Amino acid sequence: MVRTLLALALVLAGAVLVAAQAPARTSATPAVALPPVSLTCPMHPDVVESKPGSCPICKMNLVPVRLDASWMCPVHAVVIEPQAGTCRLCGRPLVPVVVSLTWSCRGEVNAEFLEPGVCRDGSPRIGKRTLRPHGNHNPQHGGQFFMAPDTWHHLEGTLPRERLFRLHLYDDYARPLPAAALAAMEARVVTRQRFDAATRATIEDEVFTLKPSKDGSSLEATIARAPLPAALSVKVRFKPDTPEYRFDFTFRELTREPAAPRAATPASRNARRSPAPAGTTAVAAAPAATAAPAYSVPTELLPGTMAELLADLARRRDEVGGLVQKGDFGAIWVPAFQAKDAAVALEPHVGHLTPQARSHAEPALSDVVRTAWQLDAVGDTGNADEVAKAFTLFTDAVSRLLAAFSTTP
Ligand SMILES: [Zn+2]
Ligand SMILES: [Zn+2]
Ligand SMILES: [Zn+2]
Repeated sequence: MVRTLLALALVLAGAVLVAAQAPARTSATPAVALPPVSLTCPMHPDVVESKPGSCPICKMNLVPVRLDASWMCPVHAVVIEPQAGTCRLCGRPLVPVVVSLTWSCRGEVNAEFLEPGVCRDGSPRIGKRTLRPHGNHNPQHGGQFFMAPDTWHHLEGTLPRERLFRLHLYDDYARPLPAAALAAMEARVVTRQRFDAATRATIEDEVFTLKPSKDGSSLEATIARAPLPAALSVKVRFKPDTPEYRFDFTFRELTREPAAPRAATPASRNARRSPAPAGTTAVAAAPAATAAPAYSVPTELLPGTMAELLADLARRRDEVGGLVQKGDFGAIWVPAFQAKDAAVALEPHVGHLTPQARSHAEPALSDVVRTAWQLDAVGDTGNADEVAKAFTLFTDAVSRLLAAFSTTP
């Protein structure tokens, strides 16, 4: 769901450059369309609907919100820009996030609007981009990033060097958790386990307890030497009396911490004291992007003909399969949604099929859509079993759809 919003918003982002930062000065009509107003639960931000109603979880009335894609500095949360680029404070590459857009007037602190306009004093309303809960699903240390099934905790696993596993924990805004919260957790990393069919239980053959690091910023464990690619499972209980969750990590290589922008050398430290000449900023000297987003943004146009759509669908299925195999669960949603889009685009072509083929194509098509959503959801939470299950259902649906279309007269 959250990823969906991000995907949609990012696709739209190119076209929808909101006048949030600079409200229209000359005319009251915005030159570009705003992203649509959605409805969300005040208590459950992951509930986002297109129509008014009540929250399916707590029954509260949904409230309107205008969601958009933006780009944020991974360390300076105040830096949120409408477009990709680098942070104006530190030069780090910005990462894609979901924000809510609001407008307000100077001196009217309690009034927030969902659209630009004119204030009582005649000045234009001031736009603001605010990070949404779950709006930031980007790894912060070059590792694999997952969301817990409690939809509040987030975590990131890294393998900074051989035999060292580190777990970073975050809240719903992807802010690091305080040391005290980490100390209260019960977590272990399993490097070898097997499923015992007789007892239907998982037997952990090699387990290491995760303990707070010296600086208290993460949990870590010295593990046995594991050949790459290394598959590790983390089992964690965030608080006593809460369920234990499992997250499956796969490391193709050792994790590289994204290089901080150029370290301040004595010279540059001095330089910082004198004002930068107009037109040049520290950003210009920033190194090339080292922390590329963990996924590419699906902005390609769908191929048009039926044959192209079918080929596209098969290709996306294979891409999902490749990511499942690599354990790159956080990236699955991209090809899964592209497959879903291809399936939806095939819908009008169902009419060309024989009645027999059609009776197979229609349920297969809705299964592709449904299982693509499932893949998105389980990919976020990084549980290998759940991902494998969803992938089996998804490939089955895709195969049935392709088979139904292969019988075209
Ligand atoms: Zn709710
Ligand atoms: Zn920054
Ligand atoms: Zn999240």
